[in-house]
Amino acid sequence: MNKIPLSRPYITEKDISCVVNILNSGMLVQGKEVDFFEKSMSRYIGSKHAIAVSNGTMALYLSLLAAGVKSGDEVIIPALSFVATANVVELIGATPIFVDICLDTFNIDVSKIEEAISPKTTVIMPVHEFGLSADITEIKKIADKHNLLIIEDAACALGAKENNHHVGTFGMAGCFSLHPRKSITCGEGGFIVTNDDLFAKKLYQLRNHGIEENFQFSSIGFNCRLTDFQASLVNSQFERFDEILEEKSKIVNWYLSRLENLNIKLPSIPENKNHTWQTFHIILNEKTDRTKLIETLKAKGIYTNYGAQCIPSLPYYQEKYKSSRQFANSWKAYKKGLVLPLYNGMSEEDLNSVVNELKIAIQ
Ligand SMILES: *Cc1c(COP(=O)(O)O)cnc(C)c1O
Repeated sequence: MNKIPLSRPYITEKDISCVVNILNSGMLVQGKEVDFFEKSMSRYIGSKHAIAVSNGTMALYLSLLAAGVKSGDEVIIPALSFVATANVVELIGATPIFVDICLDTFNIDVSKIEEAISPKTTVIMPVHEFGLSADITEIKKIADKHNLLIIEDAACALGAKENNHHVGTFGMAGCFSLHPRKSITCGEGGFIVTNDDLFAKKLYQLRNHGIEENFQFSSIGFNCRLTDFQASLVNSQFERFDEILEEKSKIVNWYLSRLENLNIKLPSIPENKNHTWQTFHIILNEKTDRTKLIETLKAKGIYTNYGAQCIPSLPYYQEKYKSSRQFANSWKAYKKGLVLPLYNGMSEEDLNSVVNELKIAIQ
C-alpha cells in the first residue's frame, strides 16, 4: 500500500553533501555556518539581529528571560497553540493568560485581548498559527497603548507577512523553529530576530554561558547553541525557500479546489497576508467522529492528525488554573480540527487519494 505521510522533510543530495562537508571539516559546533545562517535570516526577515539557538522552544524561553519576564507577571497567549507557547511562560514562573482564537484563521481573537490585560500583564505573545500571520498590526496598537512588549511565536511561520512586513519584526522579538514539521529544518533548531541591540546582547549571553565578547563572565547563561552541521543543512535548504513555499501553496490550492462544497470548514487567507502553509488544517462537521476518521484514513495508508492543543483544557493547565472561562473556538479547533498530509514533493495523485478517501469517510 502506498503510504501518504502527514509531513516529510525535504532533503536533497546537495543538502546531504553540505552536511557531510562540515562533518569532514572537523569543526562541528557553532561557527561559520551558524554565522552565515544568522546573516541570511536577518537579511531575509529584515531585522538587525538573528540569533540561532537549539530549538524554537528555547527561542521563546530565552526571549521571555531577556525581556525580564518574572514570577508574578502575566503573559497573554492564544488558547490554541502548540503547548510549548504556554509551557515557556509557566517555566519562567509567570502566568499564561489565554485568549480565544478566530476560527477563520486559527489566530488570537484581537477583540478579546484588552479584556485579558491586567496590571500584572507585561507581554503579549501572539502565535502565527499554522503559518499565517496573526493580526499583528492591531496587536501592536494594543501593546503600545498598554505599554506591553510583544514576543512573537513565529515558530511555524517563517516567510509569513502582514502588509508586506515579515512576522517576527513587529515586536521586541520574533521566535522561529527549525523542527522537521516546519518549512526548513535541521532536525532541532531555532532562532530569534530582534532590532534591539541590548536585547540581542542578552540573548547572545543567555545562549552561551553568559560569556560576553570580551570574555568577561559578568552574567549567566545556558548552552543553547546550534551546531555548524545543522546550520549547513538549513543554509542549503534556505537557498530554495521561495520554491518550497510556492510548491506548498500549489498543493494547498489543489486541496482547496477539491474540498469545496463538502461539509467541512476550509482555512481562509485575509487579503493583507500570505499563508506559508506549515499546516493545512480543516474543521470537520459536528457529526464527524474525528478519532474514527483518522483510523479509517490510516487503514488506507493516509496519515492525518489533530492540529494544535486547546491549552487551558490540558490536564496540567486545567488542574493548575481550574479555568471556568470558555474558549469555544479553540476547543472546537482542538476537537474537530484535522490536519491533512502536506509536504514538498507530494504528488497530485497522492493528494487525489487523500481527497477521495476523505470524501468517502465523511459521507
Ligand atoms: C513548533 C512550534 C514550537 C516549538 O518549536 P520547537 O523547535 O519544536 O521547540 C512552538 N510554538 C509553535 C507555535 C510551534 O509551531
